[in-house]
Amino acid sequence: MSIKKRLLIYIGILGLLAIVVTSLILRDFATTPFPPDLTLAAYEPYTTLVVPQHQIWRPKFPVIDLHSHPQQAESIDEVVQAMDAAGVKAIVDLFGHWGVDGARLERILTAYRLKYPERFIVFTNIDLDKIEAPNDVAEECAKFERAVAMGVKGVKVWKDLGMMERDNTGQLVAIDDPRLDAIWDKIGELKIPVLIHSADPAAFWQPVDLFNERYEELVIGGGWLDSYANSNYPSQEALLSQRENLLKKHPNTIFIGAHMGEMANDLRALGQLFDQYSNFYVDISDRINELGRQPYTARDFFIKYQDRILFGIDLYPETHVYQAYYRFLETKDEYFDYPRHYFKHGRWKIYGIGLPDSVLEKVYYRNAARLLRLNDF
Ligand SMILES: [Zn+2]
Repeated sequence: MSIKKRLLIYIGILGLLAIVVTSLILRDFATTPFPPDLTLAAYEPYTTLVVPQHQIWRPKFPVIDLHSHPQQAESIDEVVQAMDAAGVKAIVDLFGHWGVDGARLERILTAYRLKYPERFIVFTNIDLDKIEAPNDVAEECAKFERAVAMGVKGVKVWKDLGMMERDNTGQLVAIDDPRLDAIWDKIGELKIPVLIHSADPAAFWQPVDLFNERYEELVIGGGWLDSYANSNYPSQEALLSQRENLLKKHPNTIFIGAHMGEMANDLRALGQLFDQYSNFYVDISDRINELGRQPYTARDFFIKYQDRILFGIDLYPETHVYQAYYRFLETKDEYFDYPRHYFKHGRWKIYGIGLPDSVLEKVYYRNAARLLRLNDF
């Protein structure tokens, strides 16, 4: 075969290949949709924003973590390591459950006392099954007297009060149920605060659909989280008004609303509650996601109500979570991720509120030390 013929064959083959490749590309264009078919879960854009960033390794002042569940961690030593790395002086273990005749509580207090006497503060719990008979209530009151003598510094009440706990007749026990009155008064008399978790974020009561700002949290967290939209739970409004009634009925008992009193999305309303009830406080645990998306409002709020806000992170101590809280409270960094133990709450970023030192000090430890009457702190 002559060179010319061979060349012609090669050119022919190349031409055919070019036609095949071009047609494949064109076909691809025709079938790949644009914009691409992204799922919400897969969409994780990187920001191109260039702004100053500060890593706060240690807090400016000592820290008391008022809302903690260290028993969820592997060991006490691990907890103390995380606290040391994050500059946390003391944490409140909210699960000092009484057990049989106080045995469980005694065991926890002793374990902490033996190893780390200064680092752990223990709260005990109300036995909500013991509200039917006056005798039970009297027993429960006596329990709190003993618990305080043992070294307990406060009481923790979970959202099951109002939402899940039912009495002998099958009725939900309301947060302001009169059968609990004597117990709240006794706790007030003993001068220990009650950390009370009532209700949940407002979005949990909205339908889980394209309009819900916590859609992913409610969908992914399906197992233990719940949307209350189509359920028999009382409305958030009803629960918060039961709690308000509790504040009104027991002015001598100090109540600390867990998670910004579940009103972080409406600080104006929370401020009104503070103005009306001097026995009401809140912790910031697990709510800097809400606070950090309204930095101007939140900063003003923290300054105005600087004596009523307490530090806490919820769940078990994790160094990086503490450090993210410090960044939020101490810097004016912009548009960064809020910390989380598990999954994301909502698709937004947060901004630091750069609190003045005098306010920071109160939020970090002074307010807690005052309420817990830790005189030497
Ligand atoms: Zn908690």
